[in-house]
Order: sequence, then structure tokens, then C-alpha cells
Amino acid sequence: MTATVDLLLRNLKPWGEAKTVDLAAVGGRFIAPTVGMTAKRTIDAAGRLAIPGFIEPHIHLDKVMINKEVRTNSSGTLTEAIEIIWEKKRTYSTAEVVARAGSIIESGVANGVLHFRTHVDVDTIGGLKPMEGVLAAREKYRHIADIQIVAFPQEGILRDKGAEELMWKAMEMGADVVGGMPFNEASPADSKRHIEIAFEIARKHDADIDMHVDETDDPNARTLEMLADQTMANSWQGRVTAGHTCALAGYPQDYAAKVIAKVKQAGLHMITNPATNLMLQGRLDAQPKRRGITRVQELLAAGINVSFGQDCVRDTFYPFGRDDTLEVALITAHAAHLSQPTQIEQLFAMPTVNAARILGIEDYGLKPGALADAVIIEAPDAAEAIRLQAPRRWVIKRGKVVAETEVRRQTWF
Ligand SMILES: [Zn+2]
Repeated sequence: MTATVDLLLRNLKPWGEAKTVDLAAVGGRFIAPTVGMTAKRTIDAAGRLAIPGFIEPHIHLDKVMINKEVRTNSSGTLTEAIEIIWEKKRTYSTAEVVARAGSIIESGVANGVLHFRTHVDVDTIGGLKPMEGVLAAREKYRHIADIQIVAFPQEGILRDKGAEELMWKAMEMGADVVGGMPFNEASPADSKRHIEIAFEIARKHDADIDMHVDETDDPNARTLEMLADQTMANSWQGRVTAGHTCALAGYPQDYAAKVIAKVKQAGLHMITNPATNLMLQGRLDAQPKRRGITRVQELLAAGINVSFGQDCVRDTFYPFGRDDTLEVALITAHAAHLSQPTQIEQLFAMPTVNAARILGIEDYGLKPGALADAVIIEAPDAAEAIRLQAPRRWVIKRGKVVAETEVRRQTWF
């Protein structure tokens, strides 16, 4: 029988595989092509590198593109970046958040990002306005992007009286993941309680947890170990992610080794955000300045699942970014000293298979039965894709081409 499928992809070179493959898409899923199959559209990838889409596991869509509307972060620190947002947050409207978030969702998708996990501020300053805005943006872009939302109590839960109630409400409104910022509390006891409350909310909603952990150069920050301990106490292994973890880089070797062993035991996923943290950390250091990047290589060596995120785009924390995974990969390679061929493959796993584990994306893959998501890159392999910052030639979401990029350059040599 001859069937007509939505899309036929020929000669894809899936990352990590030796041979090219053909795939057909029908009803948003891949199937194996059959002889004589007809398609509404056929693309010949001609051996180009293909992936089932990049995954952005850590971004702040409620804050993106805000930097031209607020005063400048003149110290360049995390503390001042957060304070400037206070003024703006009080004036948010849903439409304005949708417009800013939408511009970066569109940019990300055109760059091949087909799944996002976004943290959204939940506090008594902006209330639930940022959440309303990002929920509306998720709805608007449902056809091109899968978006997980993390309720993020950036101002603390105990320090910001009323934040806990808002966190519960945010989860009822449609947030998927419980966030946290345990270092931003008044004492270690309060940091511990902050994490406990997050677990109470997560248990009630059967939700994963994804926290901002020790985003500081201060080597006395201890909330990564606390998070690992409570993950084990709650049997939440594999469901908890720690982002940033800058302080881990500043620990003495013996304490760092102990914490990394606990992170492994607790099955924590780790996300480094080098673009933002290279910019924010070490600001107050004399030379040599600390880099503020977590111990990526030691975490990988311990067999821990590591990914990286864009984190910030044109906000008070970071003035650049366009949610381009290959750009962040290049920054991560430099920040974490990833230069050898095997390390570059480990790097490419971070925003693909590793991030798929963090977000719990089922059916991620270029194979029959999987979601018909694909990005075909104008490069033969991962190292060349990163080196060339190669165009994402075709971006396909659920069997539909949603973006194409061709770069035209003329030379007269
Ligand atoms: Zn962040």
C-alpha cells in the first residue's frame, strides 16, 4: 500500500551514528520509510549532521530582553542584577512578558531548540504576574516548542514572607517543576528549611525539583550538599537538578570530593551556565580572578549527568545571547577546558541526550516511534558544528518544518 506521509527525511547523519538514515514523519511521530512511500515534502539532508533537537534546560524567559528598559548593572554583580529587576517586576503586564519571552522562544526554535525549561520568578514583588505571562507564552507557542516551567522563589522562601503561598499557587496554575534559591536565605538553618518546603510542594504535586544552587564565589556556601542530602531522604533520586553551583569550584579539594560523591549518590543532574557566570562571578576578586564555573570535568568523571544552559538573554545579568545552543557550547568548551575530541562529544551530549534526561523527555531520538523532531545542521559532525557555529539548515517540530536558515556569503578572492 502506498501511503502519503507529512515529511520524508533522506540521508540524515544522526549524531553518534556511523551511517545515514531515512525517516518519515506522520502524525507527529517518526516511522520507517517504505518503498514507494510518497510525502507532502521531502528533504535530502545529504549526510548533514542531525539531532532530535537541542534542549534548553535553564533559561529565564520572564526576564529576557529587559536590559534596555531598566538601569544599567554598574557593579556587574548578581546582587545588583536582581535588585534592578525589582523595579521592573512591579510593572509587568502579561502581554509584555509574552512579547519578550516570545522573541527568545522564536529565536531559540530557529536555532534548533525544541524543548525549553524556564525558571520564572515567584515572589511578593512581582507576585504571579511573571508566571501568568510565561504560561500565556507557552500556550501561544505550543505548536513549535515544548516548555517546562519552574516556579522560582528567587527572593527566598523564608526571607520573602508570602513566597511560600505563592509557590503553592504557581504549581496549581500550571508550573511543572519546583524551583529554589536556598543560598538566598538568612542562615544555614533557613536554607535547609527552604529546601524542605520545596520537597513538600514537590511531593504534593509529584513534581521534579530544579534549584539555583550556590550561585556565589563564597566557598562557605553549603546548599549543594543540603540538596543532595534531602534528595536522598525523600527518595527523589533522578528527579532533582542543581543549576550554577559556582561555589563548588571554590571548595577545598577534600570537601569538593565529598560533595561530588554525594551528588552522584543522590542522582542529581547538574547544569552549568557559563555565559552568565563568567560575566557575573569573580567581579570583586583581585587578580587572579575566579572563573565562577562549576567543576564540569570532575562531575563528568564521577559519572554525573551534566548539561549547560543559556540562563540569561539581554537582561540585567548578561547583555548578550540569542538562545543559540552552539554559541553556549563554544563558551562552555572554553570555560570548562573541553578541547579533546572525546570531550567535545561529551559537550555535545549536554544539550541533547543529557538534557533529555533532566527534562524527562520520552521518545527523544531519530528513530521510528520517536517524536518527529529534528534539526539538520550545516556541518558533518559535532566538532565542526561548534567550530563553525553552523547554520541550522532545517528545524522540524512534530513532522513540520518550522524554520530554515541559509547563509549567503560572496567573496572576491
Ligand atoms: Zn538561572
